Parts: sequence; C-alpha cells; structure tokens
Amino acid sequence: MPRSKQTFEVNSWTDVGVDAIQTPELNSDQLAKFVVIGAGYSGVAAARRLATLHPDSEIVLLESEWFGDGSSSRSSGFVVSLGQFERPSSPENQRCYRFGKTAIEVLRELVQHHQIDCDWMDQGRIVTCRCRSGARSLERTERVLKKLGSPFEKLDGAAIHEETGMSGYVFGIRQADSVLVNPAKLLVGLVKALPSNVSVYQDASVRSLTRKSNGRGVLVKTEAVTLEAENVLITSNAFSLLLGHGQHRVFPMRTFVSVAKLNGGNGLGSDPDWGITSSERVGSSLRRVNDRVFIRNSAYYGYHSSGGRLDNLAQISGFQRRSIQRRFPDADVAIENTWSGVIGITANGGQLFGQVGDGIYLSTGYNGHGIAQGTRSGELLADLASGKQSNDLQEIMKIRKPNWLPIGFPLRMGVAAYCRYLEWRYRDEI
Ligand SMILES: Cc1cc2nc3c(=O)[nH]c(=O)nc-3n(C[C@H](O)[C@H](O)[C@H](O)COP(=O)(O)OP(=O)(O)OC[C@H]3O[C@@H](n4cnc5c(N)ncnc54)[C@H](O)[C@@H]3O)c2cc1C
Repeated sequence: MPRSKQTFEVNSWTDVGVDAIQTPELNSDQLAKFVVIGAGYSGVAAARRLATLHPDSEIVLLESEWFGDGSSSRSSGFVVSLGQFERPSSPENQRCYRFGKTAIEVLRELVQHHQIDCDWMDQGRIVTCRCRSGARSLERTERVLKKLGSPFEKLDGAAIHEETGMSGYVFGIRQADSVLVNPAKLLVGLVKALPSNVSVYQDASVRSLTRKSNGRGVLVKTEAVTLEAENVLITSNAFSLLLGHGQHRVFPMRTFVSVAKLNGGNGLGSDPDWGITSSERVGSSLRRVNDRVFIRNSAYYGYHSSGGRLDNLAQISGFQRRSIQRRFPDADVAIENTWSGVIGITANGGQLFGQVGDGIYLSTGYNGHGIAQGTRSGELLADLASGKQSNDLQEIMKIRKPNWLPIGFPLRMGVAAYCRYLEWRYRDEI
C-alpha cells in the first residue's frame, strides 16, 4: 500500500487488511457524461447512483489518493443514524435521521449483497460524558431520540465500566441503530462493487474546473489529462475549496487517531467490540477492535495542521496516550500508530448541497459524520444532477445552509481560539 501523499502517515485500518485496488492510469483525454471528484463515501455513493440511473453512460470517478487512504478510510468507523443533536423541535433532526437511517440500510444491503468483509457490527454507539455539563447535552440527546422514536438505552458509569473497562464516565446513551465498521475495508469494498459503467482512477488529482468556451460542458483538468464532462459532481470534502467551491461556508480541520495496545490493568471490558463518542464535539471518541483501542481527538485548522500547539505526530501520540491512560489508569498504554485526516466543518453544523455552477454540483460539510450523511448526500447529489425528483431530494435542499465565515488569517485565528477554548472548557471529555 503506497503512503498517502496528503499526510505521509499510514492509517491502521488499511494496515489491518485492505487489498489495494489496481486501476488503470489516467493518461488520455476523455469525454464523459458525469465526472465525480473524490472517492470517499459521498463520491462512491454518487458514482454508484449515477451508474444505476444512467446504465448506458460512462461515469468517471477520480481520486487524488489511493483507495482506502482518504479521510473516509481514516475515520473512526462510526456509521451513525444521527450525528448532530439539534433542539428537539428542530426539523433538522428528522431530516438527518431519515438520511442516516436510509444510508445505513443502503450500506447494509451492499455489504450483504457483495459480501464485503468490513467487520460490520450492529453494536450501536454510546454517546457519553465525563462531566456534569456533558450530562446536560445528553439530556437533549435523549429528548431528540425519544421524539424521533429512535431506539436507545441509558447507561450509568458502572455499566460503561463493565462494558468497556473504562473509568471516569458518568452517563451514556446507546444509540442502538448506529453501526461500527472498519471504514477502510468498507470503502474499498464499495469501490470494488461499483457497477461496470463506472471507471475509477486513483492517484488522479483534479487541478482545475472550467466551463468550455462554447458553454457546453466542463473541462476537468488533472496534471496529465483533460476530461470533458457534461456534469461534474464535487465530493472532495473540504478539498472542494481548492477547486474554488465552498469558500466562506466550509473549512478544513485535521483531526487525529491513535491506536494503542494495553498491557496489564483490568482489561477492555466484557464486550469484545465497542464504540464511544463524547457528548461534546471536542471530546474523545474511542473504539475497541479486538485487543486494541483506537482514540480520536485533537483538531487543528487547515489541511496540514501547521502552527498548532500539538502539530507533530509524536506530541499528539503522547497526548492521546495520556487520554487513554486516564480511562485505563491501571494499564500500561503503548501507542502503536498515529495518523490524521481532514474533515469539512461549517460554523453552524449546516451542510453545503446543491448546484454551484452550470453542470457543477457540490456536497460537503458533514462536520465529522460523513459516513452515513455523505453516503445519502452523494446519492441525492446524483439525483439532482440527473434531474430526478424525490421527497428526500426536496428535504435535503431544505437542510440548513452553513453560516458565512471569513477566510484566511481571521478564520484561522478564530477557529484556533474557539477550539482551544472548547478544549479547556470540556477538558474532562478529552
Ligand atoms: C480521524 C477522523 C475520524 C472520523 N470519524 C468518523 C466517524 O467515525 N464517523 C463518521 O461518520 N465520520 C467520521 N469522520 C468524518 C468522515 O471521515 C468524513 O465526514 C467523510 O470522510 C466525508 O466523506 P467525503 O466522501 O465527503 O469526503 P472524503 O472521505 O474526504 O473523500 C473525499 C476524497 O476526495 C479526494 N480528493 C480531494 N481533492 C481531490 C481532487 N482535487 N481530485 C481528486 N480527488 C480529490 C480525497 O483524497 C478524498 O479521498 C472522521 C474523520 C476523520 C479525519
């Protein structure tokens, strides 16, 4: 498996067994009805849907990295029915829950049909807190889940300890209809299962998009070739900014994962696999996979996280080791690997979705919940680009738009200050 060009870090999901996909080199100019840019969960879903809607057309899916190495594959593998809990009366809860549930069922069917080995577990995730203010957030979570009729179970600190072996949690809610997966194995399996009219190319980074001078079609330029497309779907996450789309609405943050082995102590609990997220955005999420613990926390503005207080991997490994140690005080925690990936963030949790130019469509800004939300959004973006109407398409068009943001230095400084404040305020959750 070649190393990522974005980060030069190898993610451990890929290490634990993903066959690299061989694709032909993109070395000649082409015509295509649809070009999809970015093969994460949203791009793969868009390509799959386009291929079904247009069985006689060729769909081109371009990925700048290697399959299994973008952010979708570097994620923590929580496929959540609802990632963000708004006020219980907010219609956003209903919408996003409906998209999340549909996405889980779509993915489940694909996994079963194509026998994708991705360690799929209908385990649910436990949203937890370690301090009193977190407990207030969880009360809202409970009210939202009740209102949606979404199955959940409340756990106290002792139950969380029994299940996971972790100390210090005061309260948790198991969101029962969420799923845990190996995100890289699932993504690679989905790419392999794409219909035959999708041509996939990896190591094919799009450099620019321009309208053709006669106005008919879009020129998609990579370093080596130019594709002429009738329609372009941008599903490249916050990297859409580099193609000139999403400015003032979405911004990139790099967040980090470490995988650790624990020696001694009281073990990892009674459950062989579990997944825990925090009531707070800045809080740690943790997963047990066999005899290892994965932790995600720390987020820095930008694609490369330069300038942060903890902007090198060794420091972040140490920070994440201490986060795990607090939860397993009697164990010896040895970090085996640390890596990072980029998420697309919006100020108010809104999402960018829609047509952004003649023949150009964009979906991004999933705020760290893109496995399910990106999957459904990718499908609906394909519907939009194909002129296919549906209730869900109407609903996603109503989803809250991201608030305006400054760009450049003021954004960088504002995000850094806000994140450091949240990290201080919710330090117990990290
Ligand atoms: C460490 C980490 C943990 C996370 N945990 C979770 C989780 O547990 N659950 C969850 O739902 N979400 C999680 N997320 C968020 C999730 O990974 C994203 O929301 C999701 O990957 C978004 O999917 P996407 O398809 O829109 O974008 P991506 O997965 O980022 O895919 C976009 C692709 O476009 C490619 N690309 C970029 N620019 C170009 C270009 N110019 N030309 C061609 N290709 C290009 C990129 O290489 C990338 O592969 C996590 C993210 C990180 C980083």
